[in-house]
Amino acid sequence: RPAATDHPDQPVGPVAERATAGFTSEYAARPVGVWAAPGRVNLIGEHTDYNDGFVLPFALPQRTVVAAAPEQGRRWTVWSEQAGERISFGRADAAEPGRVPGWGAYVAGVVWALREAGHDVPVARLAIASDVPLGAGLSSSAALESAVLTALADLGELDVPLADRPALAQRAENGYAGVPCGIMDQSASLRCQPGRALFLDCRTLAVEQVPFDLAAAGLAILVIDSNAPHRHVGGEYAARRAACESAAAALGVPALRDVAVDRLDAALARLDDETVRRRVRHVVTENQRVLDTVELLRAGRLAEIGPLLTASHASMRYDFEITVPEVDTAVEAALSAGAYGARMTGGGFGGCVLALVDAAAAGTVASTVRQAYAERGFRPPSAFTATPGPGAGRIG
Ligand code: ADP
Ligand code: MG
Repeated sequence: RPAATDHPDQPVGPVAERATAGFTSEYAARPVGVWAAPGRVNLIGEHTDYNDGFVLPFALPQRTVVAAAPEQGRRWTVWSEQAGERISFGRADAAEPGRVPGWGAYVAGVVWALREAGHDVPVARLAIASDVPLGAGLSSSAALESAVLTALADLGELDVPLADRPALAQRAENGYAGVPCGIMDQSASLRCQPGRALFLDCRTLAVEQVPFDLAAAGLAILVIDSNAPHRHVGGEYAARRAACESAAAALGVPALRDVAVDRLDAALARLDDETVRRRVRHVVTENQRVLDTVELLRAGRLAEIGPLLTASHASMRYDFEITVPEVDTAVEAALSAGAYGARMTGGGFGGCVLALVDAAAAGTVASTVRQAYAERGFRPPSAFTATPGPGAGRIG
């Protein structure tokens, strides 16, 4: 898969310039505007989304940029630097999920979702560049959808309120690209703000911008791509989801979100499967950890969230059983090097680890993790530091 930011084979130069230059060389014309949408990491709240619970993502500085111009013809044309190709599709293709395959499905899916919602989507030419690593769990797919959605809505002067945009982008991915995903990634890419984390209630879709100004506190989040080999996780994800749904049914609640943490023991006593009990314990305690994290951030006590992050990891490791040796190693090494807290982020079985560190210590923590990987013979991890950046918008 394409490299993370500190890999040597990542194309150099600002992403916006690459998108604009790509537009010019592909279409021999100037774009009328440039739009961007970020990748994200979830600070805490894992596998809580489909249990109607809470998540707390923030926007990465890495983003996907779309340079675009309206087109007189009848076909949307899209070039992507990462895909290394140009594709096009017409109205009929955008009217029927499945007709545009591969990466183009995320773009055609946005056109489809907007048109299904009754919008007159402008035909356009697009050129896309990104420094969000693809398939690393940092949500390049939502960044792509969100950047395209923002560009097309602006180009067509479509009346699409910000609050409605995440569901449209999610629909592009679920309904057109055929990828079952929750609404967190698109909400984060579209709605996040600099210096804030986005507290999202996955039941009501209510959001709160929670202060998370890492830079002002002298802190940073070190994001470590575990580089764990790809594992077939679809079945594991489905099994976790099924366990949660069956437990909610057995407990007579709409979703596990409705099990309060102070009623957890009573709830567990009513479940006879030991594995299901552990799954429930993860979801219920994880929801509470999100709430506790939000409380601390509201109070400006940023470094104090560390133990909650680390407890989240332990819960994913022992109760939800979705970690792998590479991510456990990264968490342990980061903590041994002085991180305030560390956890795997994302659906599991690989992906990224985040560690809350003093900004000045990020390099030391990263090299300690690399050392621990080398000792175990794992493929070297890549790492970068992140502070919360802006959500989707026009940048040029
Ligand atoms: P993640 O969202 O965690 O990065 P996904 O598997 O959900 O991983 O999405 C990755 C897919 O999204 C890629 O395989 C590709 O199809 C598409 N994609 C994302 N960004 C781009 C891009 N800049 N150009 C082309 N396709 C992209
Ligand atoms: Mg994705």
